[in-house]
Amino acid sequence: MDIDNVMRLVRENIRNLAPYSTARDEYKGGIGVFLDANENPYNNGYNRYPDPRQTTLKELLSQIKGIAPQSMFIGNGSDEAIDLCFRIFCEPRVDNVVTIAPTYGMYRVSAAINDVEVREVQLGEDFSLPTAALLSACDQNTKLMFICSPNNPTGNSFSIEQMRWILEYFDGILVVDEAYIDFSSEASATTLLAEYDNLIVLQTLSKAYGLAALRLGLAFAHPQIMQLFANVKYPYNINLAGMERAAQLLTRDVETQIKNIKSERSRMAQALESMQCVKSVYPSDANFLLVKVDDAKNVYNKLINAEVIVRDRSGVKGCEECLRITIGTPEENDRLLQIMA
Ligand SMILES: *Cc1c(COP(=O)(O)O)cnc(C)c1O
Repeated sequence: MDIDNVMRLVRENIRNLAPYSTARDEYKGGIGVFLDANENPYNNGYNRYPDPRQTTLKELLSQIKGIAPQSMFIGNGSDEAIDLCFRIFCEPRVDNVVTIAPTYGMYRVSAAINDVEVREVQLGEDFSLPTAALLSACDQNTKLMFICSPNNPTGNSFSIEQMRWILEYFDGILVVDEAYIDFSSEASATTLLAEYDNLIVLQTLSKAYGLAALRLGLAFAHPQIMQLFANVKYPYNINLAGMERAAQLLTRDVETQIKNIKSERSRMAQALESMQCVKSVYPSDANFLLVKVDDAKNVYNKLINAEVIVRDRSGVKGCEECLRITIGTPEENDRLLQIMA
């Protein structure tokens, strides 16, 4: 689908929107006398409104990710990007979105808030992607398809070729959530952005980059889609303190941490598999393991009583008797193994 067809999917009110022009739209970061925004003139580092375009942080991220700043959106976590997808493309009570199940809970919450129907298609055997069934679930009003890869909570990723197949046949926008891509052996769907205008890729600084508290989520897409995001977002959605800290902390080496987490992931998978109470450990391309045990509530409570918190996913269809266990430091992981043994 080319960008002209993508623009036809945009809600009419959003297409016609005259965006709020902020006092700092002309701001180039230089020195000047700023008497335009009713700020307190006495400098304390934060008395001025921040750059609504996040130019400096985008340039830094552009170098790290190899994606042009015009093809990038920075949100208050991925959650903002997810919500913007609904607000830009989905007419409440008219349009619908399609996604897989089980998957990340935020698509459903965001859909409910925006009064948009969600059509969930259960994953296949071994959590495989039901590509044909996903397409069959779509109709004239299906604007978005959310695919989380690597998927939360199942941990597996889907292939680029499957994404390409969906992009070829789906008459809407494919949103690929890559929160865990840095732990994956599969390539990023960002490699498909040059070929497909109906693709939005979500990433985040919350997981591999270790900046969950700063709330910085990323979206990558065609510049015209990113312009819509810029028009609809709150003008100053990212604060200056967060941008500054991110710029400082992004210079650290996270590659070694990612390597360690991946090696702990295989050590943990092996150790857990050998346990009496463990039925199976699902293969993971993320920084967590989905583990089926004989009695999830019992194992969960045992861990809680020892002050080790994991995520009980046993109530989720397809994840019966499963716990989702994040990979921690070697010491934290040993503690969990000790309690479960
Ligand atoms: C953790 C996670 C995110 C990250 O959300 P932020 O709002 O960026 O912290 C996004 N998608 C999935 C599937 C996740 O598990």
